[in-house]
Amino acid sequence: MEVELALHPATTRVMVFAWPDRSIAWEMAEWLRIFPPDNCYSVCRKDVVAARNWAMRELVLKAPARIQDFVFVDRDMRPGPRTLPFLAAEGDLVGCAYPTGRPDTWASPTVVHAGLLRFNRKVVEALKDKAPWWQVTYSPDGCEFGCECGSFQKKVEAAGLAVARAGWCGHREKE
Ligand SMILES: [Zn+2]
Repeated sequence: MEVELALHPATTRVMVFAWPDRSIAWEMAEWLRIFPPDNCYSVCRKDVVAARNWAMRELVLKAPARIQDFVFVDRDMRPGPRTLPFLAAEGDLVGCAYPTGRPDTWASPTVVHAGLLRFNRKVVEALKDKAPWWQVTYSPDGCEFGCECGSFQKKVEAAGLAVARAGWCGHREKE
């Protein structure tokens, strides 16, 4: 299958959130072969929200200028052929749907979550002074929880950048 990707693997940095032991599944290893090995980083830090913020500070903001796109993927994701549209879709922040065990997760066509997402230099430029980039939220009465992805997406949208979602990815034990 010949698909035109929206990014160049050679100028894309991939961060795999690999707590607690850096191990990844065969499906992930296969998918990562799209990218040069030197562009793939394992982020093995406890607390995924802090890990995502650390990755922003150390691996995204400090990336050399030749790196144009960034991919975040959690170690329990299981990318496959149906994930390819995620790399082909236009957008500044692009997510990919995956099973979460909750029926309303993907109700909005543009909502994204950090199990698998990508963003470009425009996002980095707009958000460079906006730490913490990833932050869980609660409703005013404290009864409703919002995952860290919502705060990131809101910052991107507030900057006037395009958010999209495409493709499908497996997710261990949630299918
Ligand atoms: Zn989320």
